[in-house]
Amino acid sequence: MVEIEKAAEIGFCFGVRRAIDTLERIARERGSVETLGAVVHNRQVLQRLAGIGVRVADSIDDIRGNVVAIGAHGASPRTMEELRARQIRTVNTTCPFVLRAQKVAHRLARQGFVVVIYGDANHPEVEGILGWAGNNGVAMLDAARVAALGPPPRRLGVLAQTTQIPAHFTEFNRELIGIVLGKDSDVRIVDTICHDIRRRQTAAMEMAGRVDLMLVVGDRTSANTNRLVELCAAATTTQLIETADEIQAESIQGYRRIGVTGGASTAEQTINEVLAKLEAVGGPS
Ligand code: SF4
Repeated sequence: MVEIEKAAEIGFCFGVRRAIDTLERIARERGSVETLGAVVHNRQVLQRLAGIGVRVADSIDDIRGNVVAIGAHGASPRTMEELRARQIRTVNTTCPFVLRAQKVAHRLARQGFVVVIYGDANHPEVEGILGWAGNNGVAMLDAARVAALGPPPRRLGVLAQTTQIPAHFTEFNRELIGIVLGKDSDVRIVDTICHDIRRRQTAAMEMAGRVDLMLVVGDRTSANTNRLVELCAAATTTQLIETADEIQAESIQGYRRIGVTGGASTAEQTINEVLAKLEAVGGPS
């Protein structure tokens, strides 16, 4: 008999819930709505939204109407200006935690700090935050890269992509300080990691320590889902799955205790489908 456990923190995070509620309301009122880029990184959620009239515009040139929604990941000031210039109205669903990181980057850059963002430079959230740092920002995951910028800047501000792992951010800062700290250095570190992500990661790690298989349910392109996989894999065997369809009797064979968690943009319904499939395949818990 397989024992199946569901993590305490699952379903949409506050920011994704807020963005989806807004889109659903507008789609109901207007019949349809466009978003600039994918509003969240989750294929099942995007398919459901498409069904109620939410269309993803891949770029500003691809916007067909005169209203567009900015997703939970936010956008750079340049993007916002370009939309204004084209007289396209925006519905801003940027998550408040992302807005905070944008404001921190903007403030530090204005105060003359070189802004380092601990994060993936190609992620839309980080691209947006970088935009708020103007020409004074750089994103990296390896602190050693700061040496490539030339002589260490005297004033250096550091913040994090909201979905990063707190312990890794601490480690990054330790290494960075070792490289840049010198005479008269002014280094400011602002922890911009999202509270929801912290709770979700803590709950997942705690569970990973007690089970012999962790299933992380989420999109393979979702940054926070991949962080959960990374954390759980350090404690136990971990599999990333997008839907219940990926579960086969062979893939869970031999595991007695299975833990299930999910990314911040994974609907609770998808998690419940996974739990139902596990019970069907592995026997009731
Ligand atoms: S994971 Fe955190 S920062 Fe990202 S949308 Fe959700 S609440 Fe906001």
